[in-house]
Amino acid sequence: MKLTFLGTRGEIDVRTTLHRMHSCLMVTGRILIDCGADWLGKLEALKPQAIVLTHAHPDHAGGLECGSPCAVYATAQTWNGLKRYPIRERQIIEPRHPVFLGGVEFEAFPVAHSLIAPAVGYRVSKGNVSVFYVPDLVYIHERHQALSGVALYIGDGASIMRPLVRCRGARSAGVGCARWPEAHVPHSMMANNVAQQRLANYAAWILAKSASTSVTGIASISQTAPTISRRS
Ligand SMILES: [Zn+2]
Repeated sequence: MKLTFLGTRGEIDVRTTLHRMHSCLMVTGRILIDCGADWLGKLEALKPQAIVLTHAHPDHAGGLECGSPCAVYATAQTWNGLKRYPIRERQIIEPRHPVFLGGVEFEAFPVAHSLIAPAVGYRVSKGNVSVFYVPDLVYIHERHQALSGVALYIGDGASIMRPLVRCRGARSAGVGCARWPEAHVPHSMMANNVAQQRLANYAAWILAKSASTSVTGIASISQTAPTISRRS
């Protein structure tokens, strides 16, 4: 499996050399997971076979505001948030029902992230290698099933230096959960020793909490599979 990070920037104004474009991850077979607003007008050049969405926030789906050159896969809740987008090939993904695209399996797991734009993370598998990708996150509901045996966890880093939990009236999402790296962390922040220590603490936390889980790679490091590269 090959993962190419085309973009990892979140819904913030700051851009850095390593976090220049909004979220977009290319998986083996030219399958994209998410394409944020920065990709508007640039999708054709990527020649995607299919696009899989985690949720409807602009930094993850805004690149489709003028349509898509290929089929787009998303949950019914995400499609609810994209009604005005002129996308012709709309495919509905059911959580925990894997779909196969370009020889790769994508299984959606609902996660706590936003009350307005409900999100999923994807367990992505090819052969005997699985990774878990969840760029925006407060909490994974079925953590053990999602992470069991994964070679790599790619998560939300926006909470490393600030809490992610926001309350809307009496409701909140994921109160009491811990830290999750790394997709939206500005590179300048990663140079901070405090952030690095929090990442290390997170790695220890997830391994301790998931007794049946074997996570052999954290963030952008993997010694064997999958292959990882970055374009922006
Ligand atoms: Zn989001």
